[in-house]
Amino acid sequence: MAEYMKSPLMGQMMSQPLLISSIIQHADRHFGSNEIVSRRVEGDLHRYTYRDCHRRAKQMANALKSLDVTIGDRVATLAWNGYRHLELYYAISGSGAVMHTINPRLHPEQIAYIVNHAEDQYLFFEINFLPLVEAFAAHCKTVRGFVMMCDRERLPAESKVPNLMCYEDLIEKHSPDYVWPVFDENSASSLCYTSGTTGNPKGALYSHRSTILHSYASTMPDALNVSARDTVLPVVPMFHVNAWGLPYSVPLTGAKLVFPGPALDGKSLYELFEAEKVTFSAGVPTVWLGLLNHVGQNELTFSTFRRTVIGGSACPPAMMHAFQDKYGVEVVHAWGMTEMSPLGTACTLQSHHMALPKEERNAILEKQGHVIYGVDMKIVDDAGNELPWDGKTYGNLLVKGPWIISSYFKDEGGDVLEDGWFPTGDVATISPDGYMQVTDRSKDVIKSGGEWIGSIDLENIAMAHPAVQQAACIGVFHPKWDERPLLVVVKRLGAEVTKEELVRFYDGKIAKWWTPDDVAFVDALPIGATGKVLKNKIREQFKGYQLPTA
Ligand code: ADP
Repeated sequence: MAEYMKSPLMGQMMSQPLLISSIIQHADRHFGSNEIVSRRVEGDLHRYTYRDCHRRAKQMANALKSLDVTIGDRVATLAWNGYRHLELYYAISGSGAVMHTINPRLHPEQIAYIVNHAEDQYLFFEINFLPLVEAFAAHCKTVRGFVMMCDRERLPAESKVPNLMCYEDLIEKHSPDYVWPVFDENSASSLCYTSGTTGNPKGALYSHRSTILHSYASTMPDALNVSARDTVLPVVPMFHVNAWGLPYSVPLTGAKLVFPGPALDGKSLYELFEAEKVTFSAGVPTVWLGLLNHVGQNELTFSTFRRTVIGGSACPPAMMHAFQDKYGVEVVHAWGMTEMSPLGTACTLQSHHMALPKEERNAILEKQGHVIYGVDMKIVDDAGNELPWDGKTYGNLLVKGPWIISSYFKDEGGDVLEDGWFPTGDVATISPDGYMQVTDRSKDVIKSGGEWIGSIDLENIAMAHPAVQQAACIGVFHPKWDERPLLVVVKRLGAEVTKEELVRFYDGKIAKWWTPDDVAFVDALPIGATGKVLKNKIREQFKGYQLPTA
């Protein structure tokens, strides 16, 4: 960690480390009766308050102590968005241990790799993941016990999982008298692994300080804009970069929390949004497709839902407009990554934009957005020279800030920073007033005749066609141009469109030479563990694809 110059005159303010336990203490003391509602794996709706959550988190902290979990130990979870998972967020990090959320959609071998790499001491899991845990438990070298997140009645009499314990037993057996320990705010608080589309997953190890600063910053009006008047339903999973920080930032504001559990289909989400009067949500584009389809097919409207953050992959403008124009739901496009806790930019307008015509305002809002205070960014060429902010020149996007990693856990990948900046792997433009737009991930850029074609633009145009449900654009081999774009499309249910019509749809919307050479129709696109389209899988699928010869 860097050493800084010391002033002979230090400020005379209370010294209070920024610790995660302070959030749940604050929520209990100042918003104690505000509600947390969870759809459980058991099927029912569970409701309690921040006060109840804090009490049970302290009981769990005592339970962890009885299991000899000490400061710095990693404790893993395989769980949906729900109240028990939230209790663990606070019990584990608050007591000084490290909350390690694992994505249950990964392969059992990948999970075992991550558990062993993290050297997890205990693993908490939701009841429906028992078969998954049985598949990898024997390979976990450091895990001393497994805890099933249920009551005693649901615990199986026999199981292949060694040292299996029951969550509610642990809570019941322990007192809620617990004083949250005070330690250095730079201590590790939680650990998330990147999805590892190339090579093994690497861990981003957050600190208490980085988490609190990220939580403060992300609630601001031009970021997530969460207040005590909101009812927040995080659709983004608590195992995907800590649900973008919402389990911390929402209790910090005192807003009501609604957890969807495993029921992420359009119908279940819609019913929960309506029943619990949800005002604000956040998730990746693929989950919103399901919700929008359900609402559209059944001619429904939202009575309270007013704003959603969409990020994780580019939000197609067609989706943004459907939310805004048909349903009155404001979309805030946001960008970030696991290595950034994850929030980097959010797209909202400034006062000098308000007089612009709607189309120009929309063109700004479709970008990934403006940095939030704490994050700085720049674009550079391959030699590292900074490129201009003109909204046209694109380059490698680099970032820095107090909630961005300085290295991966256990220094995997070595020295990752470039002159103190973290290379994001994204290619972007930045406008003169600081709005960043991702043109592509550098590994997805289509290289045609020495020039780059950004696949996101091509996909966004295709998804604006009424017959297109989802689209992905990849580069395929071309004897003259090296690569040319192939558009891979999933049609909307019952809709018809030809290749020629789709190619013609690009006319006048984009430089002629960017137009895809061909269109392939598929039943579905491969989706990864965090709900993103897997371009590398599509490239594999279309390896050797013959483009039509013009
Ligand atoms: P993983 O690579 O493991 O999926 P993340 O979930 O951290 O990791 O993904 C980060 C990447 O997701 C970013 O580098 C970027 O390529 C992409 N991304 C995130 N938000 C957006 C967005 N709004 N638009 C385009 N791409 C995005």
